[in-house]
Amino acid sequence: MGARERGLVEALHTWGAATLRDLPWRRTRDPWAVLVSEAMLQQTQVARVVDRFGPFLARFPTPAAMAAAPLADVLEAWAGLGYYRRARDLHRSATVIVAEHAGRVPDTLAALRALPGVGPYTARAVLVHALEQDHAVVDTNVARVLARAVQGEAMTAAVTQRLADTLVPPGRAWLHNQTLLDLGATVCTARTPRCGACPLRSRCRWRRAGGGDRAGASAPPDPARRTAGTSRPQAAFAGSDRQGRGRLLAALRTADAGLAVDELDRVTGWDDADRSRRVADGLVADGLARWSRGRLRTPR
Ligand code: SF4
Repeated sequence: MGARERGLVEALHTWGAATLRDLPWRRTRDPWAVLVSEAMLQQTQVARVVDRFGPFLARFPTPAAMAAAPLADVLEAWAGLGYYRRARDLHRSATVIVAEHAGRVPDTLAALRALPGVGPYTARAVLVHALEQDHAVVDTNVARVLARAVQGEAMTAAVTQRLADTLVPPGRAWLHNQTLLDLGATVCTARTPRCGACPLRSRCRWRRAGGGDRAGASAPPDPARRTAGTSRPQAAFAGSDRQGRGRLLAALRTADAGLAVDELDRVTGWDDADRSRRVADGLVADGLARWSRGRLRTPR
């Protein structure tokens, strides 16, 4: 790490030590709790996860507690968080942790990556946020900050991860990563970066070149826009398959007799029997529902 990067990291840490958000999963170093929080945070907003994290963890405080519970109980506790595949993967991971790791969340990148639904980001997040190992976690927020402030140009995912790795000061990975995540989430936001509140403003490559909050017609393009993982807009939820899946799952929770095939359109709100059937089949393929005597039902 050169002098410029060292200065940047120090400024970052000074800011982070003073302003880091107090979030429930930051008060623990329990790898299971961190794994649960990361599963929830993947596609659900922080404010919503703050409310749900504690009660969910109280119900399934350990991998063994979750592995012993029927999948239906886990899905019920997950209700309202969306993307039920995450809950199903968590349940499968708990089973693997009990069967292959004596009930303890593994502590290596390779073993974590082997758990169902655990990708490179989540595996590193557990190692850093729970075990304080020296790794770099890179989500869209972190990639955006690094592209703008450090690199000043667009990067591939591999280059972003390599750059992030070089910036982790040994022994301080927890604060370092949490601070980068917060800076990207609250200050260096995608649309309107608040450079006036940013600890990196005097060092930021993009802003020094005329970008950031000074961006005008002649400003250099935002490096984050072409950086891997930072520019994929979330598809609209209204009218999406995800919305249809959510509606079917919500209806199944109260439909004791399940749903007949000709009821699916009424529930999804679509006038498209083929599409409703396809989405219902997707729920079955994901283990979130089953077909029984021609009716869609909750898993056994
Ligand atoms: S100075 Fe602005 S653009 Fe640069 S890292 Fe800070 S908030 Fe982002």
